[in-house]
Amino acid sequence: MVESLIALGSNMGDREGNLRRAFGMIGRQMKLVKISSVYETEPMYHEDQSWFLNCVAAVETDSSPRELLERLQTIELEMGRERSVRYGPRVIDLDILFYGNEIVSEPSLEIPHPRIAERAFVLAPLNEISPKLIHPVLGRTVSELLDDLKTQKKVVRKLKRASDLAHSS
Ligand code: AMP
Repeated sequence: MVESLIALGSNMGDREGNLRRAFGMIGRQMKLVKISSVYETEPMYHEDQSWFLNCVAAVETDSSPRELLERLQTIELEMGRERSVRYGPRVIDLDILFYGNEIVSEPSLEIPHPRIAERAFVLAPLNEISPKLIHPVLGRTVSELLDDLKTQKKVVRKLKRASDLAHSS
């Protein structure tokens, strides 16, 4: 079993319902170990779109990194995600942040996820559940990466815990 960290995001339709559904589908395929709070976050890259809800979950899985990506992509497709604009609006986005200490560098799969260090919407929830985790490429802990981050992007912690979403599905 390997512990993997997964980032979830949604900025279309019933965002909370979308996270809840994704947790239900993930939880049926692997063990959900820890879940951060839900954060409401300002969009990056394409700024002319709705704010996101984001959270991070730790899972235990037997799947290889490639199989895990396929499982997550199947969930995205089943939830009706259409691939259109890169970084544009989406019902659900599931990214593999870490897979144990492994480094994967393939054209369609990079682990650790290559944009962790620039994303407050990933680092803030990640810091809640794994502050001491060391990024195997950058050699910095999650809490150090969050301290280093210089962004004006707003990330607002919502009181509702994502674990409530996971348990109510
Ligand atoms: P996006 O549309 O931003 O969700 O990007 C999806 C694409 O990123 C997929 O085609 C994946 O093959 C690729 N990808 C590369 N590394 C990762 C990762 N660590 N987690 C999820 N998707 C990844």
